[in-house]
Amino acid sequence: MGQSSLEKENQELKRTLRLMISKAEKNESVLNSFFEVELRLLSCGRLSELLDLILIDFKEFFRLSSVNLILFDPEHAARSLLDDYIPPAPGNTLRFVQSQRLLKSIYPNQKMIVGAPSTPLRSEAFPVTDSAIESCALLPLIRQNCLIGSLHLGSSDASRYTEHVRYDYIQHLASVVSVCIENCINQENLHRLSSIDMLTKVHNRRSFDQEIVRELSRASRSAHPLSCLFLDLDHFKTVNDTYGHQTGDRVLRTVGLFLNKQLRKTDIIARYGGEEFAILLPNCDKDRALEIAETLRHKLSKLIFRGEESQPFRMTTSVGVSLCHPEKYTALKLDDIAYQLIQSADKAVYTSKHNGRDQVSFASFPELSPREANLSSISSQQA
Ligand code: GH3
Ligand code: MG
Ligand code: MG
Repeated sequence: MGQSSLEKENQELKRTLRLMISKAEKNESVLNSFFEVELRLLSCGRLSELLDLILIDFKEFFRLSSVNLILFDPEHAARSLLDDYIPPAPGNTLRFVQSQRLLKSIYPNQKMIVGAPSTPLRSEAFPVTDSAIESCALLPLIRQNCLIGSLHLGSSDASRYTEHVRYDYIQHLASVVSVCIENCINQENLHRLSSIDMLTKVHNRRSFDQEIVRELSRASRSAHPLSCLFLDLDHFKTVNDTYGHQTGDRVLRTVGLFLNKQLRKTDIIARYGGEEFAILLPNCDKDRALEIAETLRHKLSKLIFRGEESQPFRMTTSVGVSLCHPEKYTALKLDDIAYQLIQSADKAVYTSKHNGRDQVSFASFPELSPREANLSSISSQQA
């Protein structure tokens, strides 16, 4: 073999090597970006956060024209967690189905679909899009051999997803998405269950104790007041004694529902004890808190309940109101402020009871001791 042909072969080999290295580097970079997405998926604690990641960030991250998702949600387990969630525009990026009919028709053998979509498939997978979808990857989301949803990645580039190419990465990504969706729904529902009072469906005391610290922290940051209402049903024992315990339970349930209807979504309502309810009103000053307390007291006294034999009766409620500006107490721990706020509201209920029940009283947040005031002003200066 002559020298020139050896050189030629050498150059050819070098070129092949360069191509292979460049391909390997590209693969590594794709793999790394998939790892990054995977980590972000796994770190989502809330379903809404996970959906934003899939429907908004995926689009940017993978340079796609459209990302759509269908979730099989027969018992509203996902929807019940998404009261305030607004899916990204254009519409229909997120859909829920109650039967598996549609999913089974898209994936007759549970395999991903890649390539140029047929017209019916395109309108099913991307009902509303800003741009034409020339190629797509439709990924079945599967858990325990059951279709739980469908993830649709659409591109305006016809060569982006083509048949006869293996897409192991996105197939793996679909498995991670499936696990994360199922996990978020289970975790969030479990958390809900553990923070709700089963009888009245409002927060339980444990959850209230957590929420009050969270709300104080929020109020402190925004320098807004936080008001706290305590409601204690008057002579509730007599209701049990006269109409039976089950009627008493019904009264509590009705009061829980009533409070939920009357207040804002941002207010926290809890059953604090047997026949005591506690309410947190974020960003609510004293006048407004007293006005709300009075409205609740008045409306509660007008509710008509019925005993086991339909005998009508009414209930009255004693209400205590307290309020604090947590940003003024920087030297105190939030737990201590929470304790004082609750104590004050409880003291105010006692005043209402003492003065004849069926009324609203206010108790000021305790004055700071000189030492606390001093500490507070020092830390405010430092801040
Ligand atoms: P007051 O006006 O002083 O608040 O009188 P009261 O009878 O409401 O208060 P008391 O603390 O004497 O009694 C509270 C009653 O609430 C006693 C208890 O049996 C009843 N209770 C507590 N939890 C429940 C519950 O889950 N269901 C029912 N039906 N009753 C409950
Ligand atoms: Mg009580
Ligand atoms: Mg009572």
